Amino acid sequence: MTPRQKVAVFDFDGVISTYNGWRGFDVFGEPIPSTIKVMNDLQSQGWRIVIFTTRHFTPAMQEWLRIAGVTYDDVNNTKHNPPHTSNKPIADVYVDDRAVNFHGQSAPQLMDEIKGVANSKGSPLDVAKEN
Ligand SMILES: [Mg+2]
Repeated sequence: MTPRQKVAVFDFDGVISTYNGWRGFDVFGEPIPSTIKVMNDLQSQGWRIVIFTTRHFTPAMQEWLRIAGVTYDDVNNTKHNPPHTSNKPIADVYVDDRAVNFHGQSAPQLMDEIKGVANSKGSPLDVAKEN
């Protein structure tokens, strides 16, 4: 039996591209070379690479990814999901700058970690509403 293809999902802002606050739909940060290297290496090892972002996948973003040398299979797309699943991409791993990795920690510890992430960054909702 052939092993199932592994899927890695990458956030865009703050993971593939530097992020210093929302500046517009077609305004991007600088490429983050370490992330891009890992994405490309995983894909060459047979992984499926999905970018999952709140951004629309515009032609400008497509061009930014091309110039930055990012290889990927999909953006905001779950066509690898089985039928009757939601729009969250099924994945073996998610890479996101706003994530808390849940591993069974206690409620107080989880609360601390959630607030730590939330307080370490500006609110993306407040910023997006200004545009
Ligand atoms: Mg992000």
